[in-house]
Amino acid sequence: MKQCNICEKGMLEKVEDILLEIENYAFVVKGERCNSCNEEIPFEEETQKTINTARKLGVWPEPLKLYRHFSRSGGGLVFRVPNDLERQMHLSEKTEIGISKVGRKIIIEPIEN
Ligand SMILES: [Zn+2]
Repeated sequence: MKQCNICEKGMLEKVEDILLEIENYAFVVKGERCNSCNEEIPFEEETQKTINTARKLGVWPEPLKLYRHFSRSGGGLVFRVPNDLERQMHLSEKTEIGISKVGRKIIIEPIEN
């Protein structure tokens, strides 16, 4: 058994019940779990298999998280929507959007007409 390099206290045990949740789908994969901090480390090939399956189901949003900067135009901040998201969500300059502030997050949602 390997020592956990997250908490450096526990040992990694082989498990077959790591739950990966992607959108509303749950995938059970094999990997290792620390018997002290419970950190779960799915095996690389298992993660890859899950990603492939999820892609086939069309539930893998790629990339999962984007880091972008605002730009400034006409005295205001402008956020450019990445091309892949534009395509994936069928957005255009005619798309009406709702903007809401939830805590420290800004949620931009297309409004279906
Ligand atoms: Zn640990």
